[in-house]
Amino acid sequence: MTCIFCKIIAGEIPCNKVWENESVLAFRDISPASPDHILVIPKTHYENLNQADNIVLGNLLSAVKTITKELNLLSSGYRTVINTGNDGGQTVAHLHLHILAGRVHHWPPG
Ligand code: 5GP
Ligand code: ZN
Repeated sequence: MTCIFCKIIAGEIPCNKVWENESVLAFRDISPASPDHILVIPKTHYENLNQADNIVLGNLLSAVKTITKELNLLSSGYRTVINTGNDGGQTVAHLHLHILAGRVHHWPPG
């Protein structure tokens, strides 16, 4: 197994866990781009958004609703991002959703 996020799921690499359920794990990004920068990943390996089935995608978004509510991010607001492929800026080939919060996020992104 070479996928770094699969290793985190397996407990082989430590992470700063924020939340989990049976199908989703959320942990803090090792190189935060915002004061709160959380990665939300399926516990099953999918390379990217297009590889994942719709139930998995729904589970990720459902987790975002729960996590942002529990961390009280909703009142100030937050940014969600899914990078896909080279042009999308994806660097880890295990589907993940970024939650970014704690500052103003401008649009369009770079
Ligand atoms: P991407 O650029 O693929 O959308 O996002 C990958 C993210 O994973 C980056 O923000 C990067 O900082 C984060 N990351 C890479 N390796 C690790 C790691 O071992 N632990 C954690 N917590 N985050 C990681
Ligand atoms: Zn993986």
